[in-house]
Amino acid sequence: MGKIRVLAEDLVSLISAGEVIENPSSIVKELIENSLDAGADMIDIAINEGGIRSITVSDNGSGILKADCPICLLRHSTSKISTKEDIDEISTYGFRGEALASISAVADIRIATQTKGNETGTLIIARFGENPSVDETSRPKGTTIEVTDLFKNIPARRKHLSEARVESQRIQEVVMKQAAILPEIGFRLLRDGITIIDCPPNQGASDRIASLWGIDIAKSLVNVDHSLGNIRISGFVARPPVSRGNRSREYFSILKRPISDERLSRAVESAYSTTLMKGQYPICALDISMELSKVDVNVHPTKREVRVLDISKVCDIVKEAVRQAFGMNGDAEETATLQSSLDETIGYAAESSTTEPTQLSSQPSSHNQIGAAPLIEQTILIPSSESAEEDSEVDFLGGVFRIIGQMHDLYILLESEEGLLIVDQHAAHERVLYEQLRKEVNQDRVAVQELLQPFILSLSPKDAEQIVDLADTLESIGYTISSFGGNEVSISTLPEILGRTASETELLALIDRILDLGGKEAEETFMDNLVKVTACHSAVRAGQSLSTDEIRDIILELSATTGKYNCCHGRPSMIRIRKEDIDRSVGRLGASAIARYKARHGLK
Ligand code: ADP
Ligand code: MG
Repeated sequence: MGKIRVLAEDLVSLISAGEVIENPSSIVKELIENSLDAGADMIDIAINEGGIRSITVSDNGSGILKADCPICLLRHSTSKISTKEDIDEISTYGFRGEALASISAVADIRIATQTKGNETGTLIIARFGENPSVDETSRPKGTTIEVTDLFKNIPARRKHLSEARVESQRIQEVVMKQAAILPEIGFRLLRDGITIIDCPPNQGASDRIASLWGIDIAKSLVNVDHSLGNIRISGFVARPPVSRGNRSREYFSILKRPISDERLSRAVESAYSTTLMKGQYPICALDISMELSKVDVNVHPTKREVRVLDISKVCDIVKEAVRQAFGMNGDAEETATLQSSLDETIGYAAESSTTEPTQLSSQPSSHNQIGAAPLIEQTILIPSSESAEEDSEVDFLGGVFRIIGQMHDLYILLESEEGLLIVDQHAAHERVLYEQLRKEVNQDRVAVQELLQPFILSLSPKDAEQIVDLADTLESIGYTISSFGGNEVSISTLPEILGRTASETELLALIDRILDLGGKEAEETFMDNLVKVTACHSAVRAGQSLSTDEIRDIILELSATTGKYNCCHGRPSMIRIRKEDIDRSVGRLGASAIARYKARHGLK
């Protein structure tokens, strides 16, 4: 007997499932594409444990006809093509009829679906190794597909999945890329019960990008719109120096299908020429629209690769499009410098409400998620409304002080009977936050800020390794830091006091300081230093303007600290100048001198 045999169908489907289903994010991608093909305009995704435990994708699309339900899980069952000719003009995302079959070969799957005008919907439950059951159910028009226990029947594959956090990040990237391309479609992503992405349907393109990438990047974006012949490039690029340490924010799509192609990356990068530092990469979201017949999506099982006729011509047009986008907005470098110095001046307080992203539409929708970008919502320093007279008084050091205001946005000036008190605003706030965090650490009850969207930071490989080594200690004061592969780390929680002010640049500087601490001292000293550094980075800055209410809050909080006269590094936090001393300095007679003069001359 020969050795070659035709494999059994279930074994074949396991093998080919591997081509389509590499990890949880490929399931999410397939399910989203099915929802889009079904004409949905709202897609809800919920994942648990990185999608390994469960992935649920719900849509309000057309639903699956009752008659189609028994076969939709079979291999090569599709409603999207039927003839050879259809393959040349594929306008749907799916067409192979493989995704549901492949998913059901490696996980349990449950589909609840309802089409328009039907009284009852259909429920399909397919557990691995069993025949699927088909029942009735009730639900509004649309489809919910739930996939549980990925690879439970293939332990070798399951073992190769990354930890849940990393798989979650991958899923998030898949959803973000798709959401960036389709602002008209609503996307929500819930990770272990926490909303990570929340984009309503019918957002403008620029609002959508701001929802996804946050206002810091959004502020620096320039519109791209350039056509040559039938090829049109549209989207956004960030003005330098806003950039990243890798290509993870270079989003490309062809005919609204997300793709990654190094040649396109290089085209954009070359348009920036020398305006980016070595090791820095552009941030962009660019869609290429061209004749469908010039694009072949039938190359790769996961459709990750799309073959484009004449890719080098497309790259040239992309490069020109980016160059023109900068050209139309003045010299890239000059604008960029202006923008960053503006940002420094305005600081984060301005982000809370008033500043619109410069290049973006000035009408954020009601759901506009600019606020849901990392932390912007949480700005502490909400400008106060008008203060009443008594509001400008504050009890401090056993007396009453009148808040005069700020000097040079650096010192708080307080007046009392005795004279003038000058408080260093940063030192004072740092002391307050230091004692607060110290107490929380001692009681093992650190208030933690869960980030809606983790920060992904690019470090040097050495720094990335060192900071991840410190992850356990850092976790005890509220930082959840983990490796994001290569030299990237992901930060998903922060101590709450810091969460209010964090930005990528801020966190990079903070990590530098933490690494400078070295972790060589005794654990207790190291922890104390960590708390100090965190307090320092969380405190209001020199140069930050404060309202009367904010000043009063800081002074009242300072009043409750035990070491109010110094910042946590030992610098004085305030100085007093007695009125008498001022009087003397200017040769003005004080009250007691006047009394003595009157007595000597017998005056009343
Ligand atoms: P393909 O998308 O390549 O056709 P799939 O295995 O992904 O193959 O899906 C099989 C079929 O099931 C689709 O052709 C479609 O008719 C139906 N289907 C899958 N998901 C949905 C959905 N969310 N809404 C409506 N129909 C769906
Ligand atoms: Mg499909």
